[in-house]
Amino acid sequence: MSAVSVSTRDGIVYRLRNQLADGAVLTSPEIGERYSVDYTGENAQAPLAVVRPGSTAEVAAVLRTCSEFAQPVVVQGGLTGLAGGATPRKGEIALSLERLNGVEELDPVSMTITARAGTPLQAVQDAAADAGLLLPLDFGARGSCHIGGAIATNAGGNQVIRFGMARNLVLGLEAVLADGTVISSMNKMLKNNAGYDLKQLFVGTEGTLGVITRVVLRLAPRLSSRCTALCTAESFGNVVDLLQAVQTGLAGSISAYEVMWASYYDKVLEIVETLRSPFADPHPFYVLVESEGVDQATDDERLESVLASALESQLITDAVIARSENERQTFWAIRDGVGEITPALSPYVPLDVSMDIKVMPRFLESFDRALAAELPNSLNLVFGHLGDNNLHLFVTTGHEAENDRVLELAYGLVGECGGSISAEHGVGSLKRDFLHHSRTPKEIDLMGRLKQALDPRGILNPGRVIPS
Ligand SMILES: Cc1cc2nc3c(=O)[nH]c(=O)nc-3n(C[C@H](O)[C@H](O)[C@H](O)COP(=O)(O)OP(=O)(O)OC[C@H]3O[C@@H](n4cnc5c(N)ncnc54)[C@H](O)[C@@H]3O)c2cc1C
Repeated sequence: MSAVSVSTRDGIVYRLRNQLADGAVLTSPEIGERYSVDYTGENAQAPLAVVRPGSTAEVAAVLRTCSEFAQPVVVQGGLTGLAGGATPRKGEIALSLERLNGVEELDPVSMTITARAGTPLQAVQDAAADAGLLLPLDFGARGSCHIGGAIATNAGGNQVIRFGMARNLVLGLEAVLADGTVISSMNKMLKNNAGYDLKQLFVGTEGTLGVITRVVLRLAPRLSSRCTALCTAESFGNVVDLLQAVQTGLAGSISAYEVMWASYYDKVLEIVETLRSPFADPHPFYVLVESEGVDQATDDERLESVLASALESQLITDAVIARSENERQTFWAIRDGVGEITPALSPYVPLDVSMDIKVMPRFLESFDRALAAELPNSLNLVFGHLGDNNLHLFVTTGHEAENDRVLELAYGLVGECGGSISAEHGVGSLKRDFLHHSRTPKEIDLMGRLKQALDPRGILNPGRVIPS
């Protein structure tokens, strides 16, 4: 869709200013840089205007007006996304949910929390914790991302192995369609099979089918004990067998199973000078296992017993159990060291892919072979939430111009392995042209038909997710 003319733009802005509260519509120079790009920093572009509705009715009014003028809109949450989805394209109005903020209700009986879409994830977590409950959705961007953005991207993060992705926690939702129609499915019930589960149209569809305005989330009882261990393994097969052993032995209480290949582990320890490996010798694989329960003594015993059996059967060659929160944080600091090493790797390509665990070795070997043949200066660092089928790869060749080739090689092989080009960060605009590696032409055609049905004028997040 082409950008609107100046007079039409002025007409839309004038109309929006009349419809919304004072200060809700910003134009240049008030906009500044803030709304121009998501966390990737790629393709920054100032929006035509920024609208910041403070209620669902105001979101509906904005979309009705934009629909009437066929004005393209980019939906913005906390702008922590990693797929370019919230970054404006030329001529788009940014619809920011930042003023639609606040927890509306915490229901301890149904164990649900109801929040407006622009509430930061951490504020929702805190409200649940204040009531002695747990919102089991957590990741590094918790302080800045919105709950609406996390649901629009079906975010994952820590604890997916136990509680699933954001989708699994959404019981109800309210969304506004491109034409301003408000769809209220604010269900609190665990069981509700009365017709289509319409909320799923908006979970993980990255703002292409509607704007999420309110959500009802399922909470869990707060867990009071936590056991963490770092183990070493000599083969990928052993890492997979260990996963099965801890899943069974820890009786469903496992909350993290993070695997670091030596390439990643060694680089973190090389660059982050404050970190030390608890192991004297290098190993091909390192596994961070964490379980959460309600009785520290019993849970410690259970983890020790599972790891002792794993040592005996040589699934692992060494293990250290964190005896303090400080030690636990040191283990996690190695796993989370990616944030500290990426500046040294720049320009790099971050990949967030998933596939059947069984094909991971084939994928990684083929990818390393392809890199060695075509881009011999490449460095490929790998870690993953293995229990979630999710691998993160950080590839650098030292030359930005070669990044596209890295993506082509990686996503081509992901497709051959039957995997997904996006395990958790979404497709946005940056991965849109690679979607065919993970979805069939018929699937993509159906996505297009849903888009056409719900947003016939194509005003909501155009050019994202679905290839044109
Ligand atoms: C440090 C860091 C760590 C991260 N770790 C993880 C992780 O472990 N797991 C994981 O899955 N992701 C992770 N992410 C990425 C994660 O997807 C985003 O942080 C978050 O889910 C997006 O929320 P946001 O409010 O910032 O959305 P934005 O970035 O503003 O938008 C993201 C997309 O959602 C759409 N959108 C936003 N709000 C709405 C709404 N209300 N209605 C409809 N569409 C909307 C936007 O149009 C865009 O397409 C991480 C990001 C960072 C920066």
